[in-house]
Amino acid sequence: MSAVPRAPAAPRTVAERLAALAQHQARLRRCRRCPGMTGPPVVGAPVLSPVLLVGQAPGSREIGLRRPFAWTAGKTLFRWFEGIGLDEEAFRARVYMAAVCRCFPGKAPKGGDRVPGEAEVASCAPWLEAEIALLRPRLVIPTGRLAIARFLEHRALAEVVGRVHPVRLGRRTVDVIPLPHPSGASVWHRTEPGRTLLGRALALIAAHPAWRAILRRPPPRAGTAAQAEARPRA
Ligand code: SF4
Repeated sequence: MSAVPRAPAAPRTVAERLAALAQHQARLRRCRRCPGMTGPPVVGAPVLSPVLLVGQAPGSREIGLRRPFAWTAGKTLFRWFEGIGLDEEAFRARVYMAAVCRCFPGKAPKGGDRVPGEAEVASCAPWLEAEIALLRPRLVIPTGRLAIARFLEHRALAEVVGRVHPVRLGRRTVDVIPLPHPSGASVWHRTEPGRTLLGRALALIAAHPAWRAILRRPPPRAGTAAQAEARPRA
């Protein structure tokens, strides 16, 4: 079992933060803390992005393919982002993809994937907290109710989607722009008012300075530390 991750104490250079991110992901991949979850944990690309996408939990396909949003819901999600400038490949390379839980919770008795329990969410939370400390995101995109609940008080989707929410994360205030879950099983984003609110949320993401920055230039990625050394601090 891997140790609970601790947030890095002091600001670091980009190269040091990339090295810490790679180390963090290696430890996360070894995590087996939750007995009711099926791993291995799914981890996105080690990119030091100012934009952080937070999903809910991977499905069984994602565990097999070892990539977040690798199946049908991902197709819808990446179509949304392609509409505002980043296709799937570019999105995976420029946005850090995390989740509330990184392992597959299994199937629910009545069908669909089981919603992770409170203890599982709490067990996995330190991994996300460490990533937020390392990445220092300027824009967070929680996708789906469980992910939205990680950042915002519980409210109906129609009250939170389509708006920018300034949220205090540690010492910084970060813009949170929630999206509904792109699952085909959900009709929320395909019917009103969900469809209009989704369009509004995507327009807000497209206009956000952090999104515009990653459209202009890919953020540094672990494995290219020498290149990152030459960059100014993010
Ligand atoms: S869900 Fe998170 S805390 Fe639980 S085993 Fe997977 S990576 Fe570890």
